[in-house]
Amino acid sequence: MTGNIQEKKYGPMTRLRTTGLFDQSKYQQINKMNKEVESLPFAELGFRITSPYGYRTDPITGQINVFHSGIDLVKAHQAPLEAFVGGTVLYAADGVSGTGVGGYGKVVVIQDKNSCAHIYAHLDSVAVRKGQRVSQGDIIGRQGATGNRVTGSHLHYEVRKKSSPALGWIDDPIARTHDPTKYLEEYYATDNDTKSETVYVVKPGDTLTKIANKFNTSVDALAKLNGISQRNLILIGQRIKLPENSTSRKETLYLPRTISRWRVYPLNKAPIKGNEKGILNPRKFGGLQYEVLGKPQAHVVTIQTRDFGKVNIYVHPSTGAVIA
Ligand SMILES: [Zn+2]
Repeated sequence: MTGNIQEKKYGPMTRLRTTGLFDQSKYQQINKMNKEVESLPFAELGFRITSPYGYRTDPITGQINVFHSGIDLVKAHQAPLEAFVGGTVLYAADGVSGTGVGGYGKVVVIQDKNSCAHIYAHLDSVAVRKGQRVSQGDIIGRQGATGNRVTGSHLHYEVRKKSSPALGWIDDPIARTHDPTKYLEEYYATDNDTKSETVYVVKPGDTLTKIANKFNTSVDALAKLNGISQRNLILIGQRIKLPENSTSRKETLYLPRTISRWRVYPLNKAPIKGNEKGILNPRKFGGLQYEVLGKPQAHVVTIQTRDFGKVNIYVHPSTGAVIA
């Protein structure tokens, strides 16, 4: 494979050695784009962006016009990291040279339904196995600083257009990758898999029978769907997938009165800045509460509002929102 040497040498960041590849107008265009979309949707997920996708100055050599093939994201060292999209784990180990992820440190690669490869690099540890199916929101590893040319603990997240051969690796970082922000934005807006998938997180005192009763399904159905062989062994915090048509008791979303601006989004658009349909003001009403009508994706629920009709709202636990 022609990519091995450069891959080994440079890891996720590639200096463009061929002058013909560098196009000033593209550079300006991508930089402009990066400023516009800056944080989407990663800020909503609690990340700080320390380096965007596209051309940048190399943080180690100071060289300009270096193409960064992914986006660098920071929560905290060893923070658990969730999969941005579901799929099949193709790689979960130290990035060995020649595999397509040499120099990436401890790395998890997940193939999505479009056969794109999602690369989570420089991990402190991996939490999944090769061949495993993961859902959006599953913990895949912890943030770290492993691999070549790493300046500090961060997640390098890269979306490759192909997942084989060599995990989609080719020398040219522009041809190899999608802009991860744009890719996720579109993926979330059109994804039906995550919309129908409902997950229950096991709480103290739960049994599979209790969970089955709660969601009007059977122990058999849950055991089969989740590959559970020992039915009396479920763990607190374990995520139990529920059948598509299962109905639970009604849940309520509580928005705390400490917040005066809470964005809501149309059902047919990604719940990210720029797509707002309106703003709720929990403070004005001493807090607000809504019936949860649906859970279209991780940390997003559908509610019926008086002013904006049926909308989606982002309710990651870090926002202060409570669902009960
Ligand atoms: Zn990076």
